[in-house]
Amino acid sequence: MKRVTVFCGSSSGRNPLFEKSAFALGELLATEDIALVYGGAKVGLMGAVANGALSKGGEVIGVLPHFLRTVELEHQGLTQLISVASMHERKLKMEELCDGVIALPGGYGTLEEFFEMLTWAQLGLHAKPVALLNVNGFYNDLLKLVHGMVEQGFLKEANQKMLLVHDDATQLIALMKNYQAPTTGKWISKNSV
Ligand code: AMP
Repeated sequence: MKRVTVFCGSSSGRNPLFEKSAFALGELLATEDIALVYGGAKVGLMGAVANGALSKGGEVIGVLPHFLRTVELEHQGLTQLISVASMHERKLKMEELCDGVIALPGGYGTLEEFFEMLTWAQLGLHAKPVALLNVNGFYNDLLKLVHGMVEQGFLKEANQKMLLVHDDATQLIALMKNYQAPTTGKWISKNSV
């Protein structure tokens, strides 16, 4: 993996552990010589993961829509800041640039971006690992819901397994490096995309 996209909260959360884990993930990516692709903001966990990577000399690429390019939001110290027209264009660009995706704790924005990447994986549109860093059990309830989707017949077990999860960033990156996507998508084979 040369580049990983990280989706995470534009807020820091109440527990200081979230910010600490985001900073540490940035440091780890830089140490592993993996460039960070993220939303380009300096606020919340977004700022923390970027600062962690930068503190270890890592490459950090921000992808920010024009309308969010304000002085309060834009991180000015990145290796590269790519400006795009819309949120849709941003997600596409973030997917194109990366070899894998990690979500840290966050809110609506984080979940929306994360699940779109997982949906694209399920459809066989890409074969990249999509992973949750389950800091302090933040995603336990979500994982219960995903389990319920399988039990209730809305999600195939094979597609559930596409969602990589760990509470330790080093272990999570190891899982991502070893990930093999299923050879067919939910509805279509990769050859027909
Ligand atoms: P949320 O989890 O709702 O805080 O949203 C965070 C995610 O949505 C990030 O991964 C960003 O890509 C995007 N996002 C939401 N709010 C902002 C913001 N103020 N500045 C930049 N990106 C944001």
